[in-house]
Amino acid sequence: MTDSLTPPATAFDHFRPTRREECGIFGIYNHPDAAKLTYFGLYALQHRGQESAGIVVSDGRQVREYKHMGLVCEVFQEQTLKALTGHLAIGHVRYSTTGSSLLANAQPFLVHHGNEYYGIGHNGNLVNAAKLRRELEAQGAIFQSTMDTEIIVHLVAHNLKKGFEEALIESFRRVQGAYSVVMCTRDKLIGARDPHGFRPLCLGTVNGSYVLASETCALDLIEAEYIRDVEPGEIVIIDEHGLRSLKPYPSVRPAYCIFEFVYFARPDSNIFGQNVYVCRKRLGHLLAKERTLDADLVMPFPDSGNYAALGYAEAADLPFEMGVIRNHYVGRTFIQPSQAMRDFGVRVKLNPVREVLQGRRVILVEDSIIRGTTSRTRIETLRKAGATEIHMLVSCPPHRFPCPYGIDFSTKGELIAASHSVEAIRDYIGLDSLHYLSLDGLLEGAQATREDHPFCLACYTGCYPVTFEEQVSKHCFEKEMLAEHA
Ligand code: SF4
Repeated sequence: MTDSLTPPATAFDHFRPTRREECGIFGIYNHPDAAKLTYFGLYALQHRGQESAGIVVSDGRQVREYKHMGLVCEVFQEQTLKALTGHLAIGHVRYSTTGSSLLANAQPFLVHHGNEYYGIGHNGNLVNAAKLRRELEAQGAIFQSTMDTEIIVHLVAHNLKKGFEEALIESFRRVQGAYSVVMCTRDKLIGARDPHGFRPLCLGTVNGSYVLASETCALDLIEAEYIRDVEPGEIVIIDEHGLRSLKPYPSVRPAYCIFEFVYFARPDSNIFGQNVYVCRKRLGHLLAKERTLDADLVMPFPDSGNYAALGYAEAADLPFEMGVIRNHYVGRTFIQPSQAMRDFGVRVKLNPVREVLQGRRVILVEDSIIRGTTSRTRIETLRKAGATEIHMLVSCPPHRFPCPYGIDFSTKGELIAASHSVEAIRDYIGLDSLHYLSLDGLLEGAQATREDHPFCLACYTGCYPVTFEEQVSKHCFEKEMLAEHA
């Protein structure tokens, strides 16, 4: 066990989520207001990525795009949307997991090839991207970005002589890893999900138009009706002939990302056949089964852990309190305070309620601890506000292994539990006690068992459903380029 723990967070780290999600995608076919509905869909999916947002729209002849860095509400104005005319659109919100956060890497990614346009929005990470990119470059491909997503477009272009459908099938056969994808041409909307189904993708309908979205909360906002999930390994092609479903690959055991239930997905969404809110509350019930504590109140640090905290309080018959209040109106940029204003980062966004915390023994429920730095500063804040004991319960097991499938902890160094025992983490964060939900508890919460489950558990167990030889990291292509020029 090492003592060289991660240094404490700076005040400004509190404006950044401790881990961010890995993109939201949306597509709609045959709607006169396709761009506007895509805008609303992206609005609902904003939690999955806040770095950039974009829409590609087609009227059957012309294809237009607009994308920029920033939140959906910052990127699109009424006038911008009015100019995006067409009946077919795809949209994307991004948090970068391969390739830096640059406009060149914003999605949807749109290319013109032959007499056709190809647009794509991708959620997930391809684990054989570096190998495929080298192969394609050796064949003369010129890449415009450092995103793994661009590889799919190149593969499609390379295989077009077999026909568009076959080109799609062949391209998705070559890529490995996690992908939920929306694509478009001038007159087709395509949805595809990798054979393990790591990331969610659902299909809905509104006024006779088909809709694809990462999560059902995007369907709800535009009053679309949920039809079904796009199945793992399925490609759906939607055009003037309706919807065609292709299932060209041998079926494999599903590996739905279980962390979507714990943290990523919105609680009002249904993913992988279950409601996220209900699942999170169940995780809280299971925490109460595993760990009984003598305390005065149960609280989350909003909004992380809200629903597991509700579940714990209910099962333990303890008061649920909001011991910290979130300021929902904090912008992303602001004038820096003076050095003397310590903990400014914490207070501007999350302010403790002294009257709730003073002299109380607190159970704090969190959804996860990734680097540990944010938790440490949060605990300091609660102690200063007068909490006498602080016990932390985490609604999943320790994250000991990196995720190569599109989550922003792709190396072990980013995970405190990869190198420290639970006791060392407790000590570092400054807690009176720390308990993580067991793996069996997490699976029970997701209505499965160790013997029979459809989930990826790799960041907890180190058993990876799709093997990867290369070190997949966010900047792998940039690093390769730098190495070539060194
Ligand atoms: S490794 Fe963890 S975060 Fe990554 S897909 Fe699997 S369960 Fe999800």
